[in-house]
Amino acid sequence: MPINKLFDTAIVGGGVAGTSLLFTLARYTDLNNIILFEKYDEVSQLNSNPKSNSQTLHVGDIESNYTYEKAQKVKKASLMVSHYIQNFGEVDRVGFKRDKMLLAVGEREVEELKMRFVEFKTLYPYLELWDEAFLATFEPKLLEGREEPILAMGARGQITTVDYKKLSESFVQQALDTDKNIQMRYNEEVTKIEREEDGTFTITSDTTVFQAKTVVVNAGAYSLLFAQSMGYGKEYAVLPIGGSFFFTKEKYLNSKVYTMQNPKLPFAAIHADPDMTQGWNTRFGPTAFALFKLERYHALHLQDLIAALNIDKDVTQVYMNLFKDSTIRRYILKNVLEEMPLVGKEVFIKDARKVIPSLNVKDITFATGYGGMRPQIIDKNKKELLLGEAKIEEDGLVFNMTPSPGATSSLSIAMQDAEGICEHLGTKFNRLKHENEIQSLKVSSVKEPSLEVKKRAFG
Ligand SMILES: Cc1cc2nc3c(=O)[nH]c(=O)nc-3n(C[C@H](O)[C@H](O)[C@H](O)COP(=O)(O)OP(=O)(O)OC[C@H]3O[C@@H](n4cnc5c(N)ncnc54)[C@H](O)[C@@H]3O)c2cc1C
Repeated sequence: MPINKLFDTAIVGGGVAGTSLLFTLARYTDLNNIILFEKYDEVSQLNSNPKSNSQTLHVGDIESNYTYEKAQKVKKASLMVSHYIQNFGEVDRVGFKRDKMLLAVGEREVEELKMRFVEFKTLYPYLELWDEAFLATFEPKLLEGREEPILAMGARGQITTVDYKKLSESFVQQALDTDKNIQMRYNEEVTKIEREEDGTFTITSDTTVFQAKTVVVNAGAYSLLFAQSMGYGKEYAVLPIGGSFFFTKEKYLNSKVYTMQNPKLPFAAIHADPDMTQGWNTRFGPTAFALFKLERYHALHLQDLIAALNIDKDVTQVYMNLFKDSTIRRYILKNVLEEMPLVGKEVFIKDARKVIPSLNVKDITFATGYGGMRPQIIDKNKKELLLGEAKIEEDGLVFNMTPSPGATSSLSIAMQDAEGICEHLGTKFNRLKHENEIQSLKVSSVKEPSLEVKKRAFG
């Protein structure tokens, strides 16, 4: 097999994580030669696809599973995506402004929400409290047939919904529009990464061999497998958590409606989202259940799965700890039942009724072909299930594992990796240009400017 030229950076994986790094390196660094490998024929066929995830830009304002500290971090990261969408003229194509709310049901939750509002309003000044009188006209389905009191904390006119596949395509286009040498290698699966004695890397794909000075692996659950094949990250294992959705047969809601989190549960409570792939019909979910696959709708590679699960006594201990808690046990059982053809809808409807009380089983259908896999990381040393992203970094080599809210954080993670690569290679990261275009809002609402206009605006 021929050895190709030496690239500055090789990126493995063309989801939103890989493509956001491609864009960041091409536009904000001096690097000239960048190559990206994607094993499928298009970007974002797995978790970054709008059918796989909830299409939410997680800003932290209505996600009651986040603490104030976590919300601060998520807000900063999400703003980068929101600024990109607005500054690069992608509103109404990639990102959409919809209304959103966190719904409290019952007296206890209503009191909790009032306290959360006082705290979170300091971070998100645009938040409003919506009472029943307002909700009755704004989202009447929330009140039909409802006995318990409700209150919502909401926001209007924010970017709430993102097509992360289109965002990935936009990143690739922006990278190709620079004068850098960008190679997009579709249908090319990386099979091996090796560190050479001179510090460079050899990347072997199923058809060719390439070399690069730095490598970033953004390959979802496979990132950890690559790390472990090179002797890193042995302290981690993957717990693959599937997430499914249900559609309503009609459009019931205009806003995203999130519900209050049970603090004992490791995964976010289900929400109702207007779905961009289904004419904005309401989509409920995601559920959360252990599914022993790394890709939801592709063949199972048993060897990869066994390697990712990395089962030993420490991993078993984490599983046992999860099962010990009766709330989590019930939750796991409920989520397994929700996947079953006949009983699934009957079980799921109880959660969905927290949002729309008048919903009947006949009003919802299992969203076939939708859903994804969250590669949750287990830290074997701490005997803990980690929530959120994880990274392994080693001398010019980075492995990113990106369960939710990884798509929201993609530009922030990319900035961190780009800065690390520049430091490693002794090149410059153009912080000022990045601050102007990604870390701040330049133009409030631009409709699809031509490339010429974009170039002049940001020159
Ligand atoms: C049910 C569900 C709901 C979610 N909802 C949200 C949400 O609303 N908001 C949010 O921010 N996040 C959400 N997430 C998380 C989000 O989807 C992920 O964080 C994000 O898509 C991860 O992007 P990625 O690029 O790292 O991974 P992926 O999109 O999975 O991309 C990895 C890429 O690597 C490629 N690849 C793998 N191995 C190789 C190889 N050997 N060679 C070449 N290419 C390879 C794959 O083909 C794939 O294209 C959700 C996730 C799930 C499962």
